[in-house]
Amino acid sequence: MNTATANRNPANLHDVAIIGGGLVGASLALALQPIGLNVALVEPQLAAAALAGGDWDSRIYAISPGNAAFLARLGVWSRMDPQRVQRVETMTISGDRRDSRLQFSAYDAGLPELAYIVESSAMQRAMLDIVAVAPGICMMCPAQATGLAVMDDAARVTLADGSLLDAKLVVGTDGRDSLVRREAGIDAKISDYRQSGVVANFATEKPHHGTAFQWFFEDGILALLPLPGNRVSMVWSTSEEQSQNLLSLDARALCDRVAEISGGAVGTLQLLTPAAAFPLRLAEIARLVSARLALAGDAAHNVHPLAGQGVNLGFRDVRVLAEVLAGRAPRQDCGDLALLRRYERARREDIAAIALSTDALQKLFGSRSVLLSGVRNFGLGALNHLPVLKNLLIQHAVA
Ligand SMILES: Cc1cc2nc3c(=O)[nH]c(=O)nc-3n(C[C@H](O)[C@H](O)[C@H](O)COP(=O)(O)OP(=O)(O)OC[C@H]3O[C@@H](n4cnc5c(N)ncnc54)[C@H](O)[C@@H]3O)c2cc1C
Repeated sequence: MNTATANRNPANLHDVAIIGGGLVGASLALALQPIGLNVALVEPQLAAAALAGGDWDSRIYAISPGNAAFLARLGVWSRMDPQRVQRVETMTISGDRRDSRLQFSAYDAGLPELAYIVESSAMQRAMLDIVAVAPGICMMCPAQATGLAVMDDAARVTLADGSLLDAKLVVGTDGRDSLVRREAGIDAKISDYRQSGVVANFATEKPHHGTAFQWFFEDGILALLPLPGNRVSMVWSTSEEQSQNLLSLDARALCDRVAEISGGAVGTLQLLTPAAAFPLRLAEIARLVSARLALAGDAAHNVHPLAGQGVNLGFRDVRVLAEVLAGRAPRQDCGDLALLRRYERARREDIAAIALSTDALQKLFGSRSVLLSGVRNFGLGALNHLPVLKNLLIQHAVA
């Protein structure tokens, strides 16, 4: 990151420049609207899937009820087709022994649902539709940030076409390989899981009854998440070798393999979308803020998808950052470091808790040790009989 002297036309100065228009960046732009901030949103490409409707997206997310309520407040939720949103009423988590099973039910916890399963592209499309007509948002697309400099009274973003963008605050929502994070000199400790998440959608023979299934095996974690109708979406986190094997199977062989390993929980399967793989890693980011700069979403943390928390953490970042900016003193600069530190302090615990717990579970269940295998299987069965602890886990998951 360079430090530079300002030579600026004040008319081009934004309050906030958001770099990265994925789910986290676009939702932040919308969340800053009621505060009356003037926002620039910089994104190189609108994902093709976000622009077209049609087929089921194989990138689906389990969105917590707390975040669904946040998206409803932004007007995003009501723009999504309710026929393509599935409520999760039960979660069944199984170990590699038949008797090791943990079950969560919305009914037992006194909740209407545990989560909603939503297509990434549907959320993105709904957000971009609102962004396009929001008076306080200047959408810059295609535009790519290539550099960042911090000055006394503003930060300056250089774009790939050579133009400059000035803002009192720059927020990096530019994903796991964040340029903003790199340019700000913020360290990231990356641990490669040497695993990929293989995703695909299937039509099922039997109904899922709103159940999210998850199986922890020695060589991976398989989740079948319910989609509307007799459909499920798979996230199979497994070694790179095994994920390559899965990708090389033809449709029939993949369906048979998934049906077999899931013990026929939803009967036989038909492939709806081709399998795709995403590399998995843990990223622990040293700081979320520096002068005139904040990070949110995958730019600020990468966690294992076993708990379906990545974008949920990102939306919670956005909720807190918008709240902190809304609560600033009259005439307080939104790039003020003291203000940004309030955001960082408020987010530390949630991010660390999810990163640590998903990492520990991944290691516990990825272990071939007989002792650890006994502990994990015993743990699932024992936890199933501890309603207080189960409720604590649920309270965290629905936030
Ligand atoms: C297999 C798998 C399953 C998952 N399942 C779940 C789940 O069920 N629930 C859940 O909560 N999370 C889940 N996640 C995590 C989730 O995918 C991520 O946390 C989420 O997509 C992060 O969103 P983001 O907006 O922060 O980043 P991204 O989606 O990566 O968006 C970053 C944006 O920044 C843009 N950008 C990049 N560089 C620049 C630049 N230089 N200038 C301008 N723009 C730039 C990119 O084009 C992109 O649009 C899963 C992840 C995987 C791999």
